[in-house]
Amino acid sequence: MTSQTSSDCLCKIVAGDIPSDRVAESERSIAFRDISPAAPIHVLVVPKRHEPTVGALAVAAGDDLADVFRLAAEVAEQEGVADAHRMIVNTGSGAGQTVFHAHVHLLAGASFTEGRMV
Ligand code: 5GP
Repeated sequence: MTSQTSSDCLCKIVAGDIPSDRVAESERSIAFRDISPAAPIHVLVVPKRHEPTVGALAVAAGDDLADVFRLAAEVAEQEGVADAHRMIVNTGSGAGQTVFHAHVHLLAGASFTEGRMV
């Protein structure tokens, strides 16, 4: 197993082995709806390359990280929430990370008056 692939995580969604409600894709990243949404719009944006955290992705492949945020912005535009969304990254189990394939949560459609949505 290299750092580029992992058979037991979101790589299966990237590969299409586990179905997902895909909303956008680029050469380097995919975006699909979270299976357990925490807001009316809750999309996960994921690099196709496997790295366990966004920080690790930044070190290993900065262009892939940039593409994740570029695609997230594209999805926000597509969903009509370009001016009202959050992008959230949980890193480490202590911060609530449960899936160890780098991902960004795009959240929108709920009140932002409360501090956290995820
Ligand atoms: P984390 O807590 O690691 O930042 O977020 C992981 C997210 O992945 C959670 O919001 C969870 O609902 C979502 N998730 C976990 N497994 C699946 C899956 O198989 N399909 C989809 N669409 N989302 C998933």
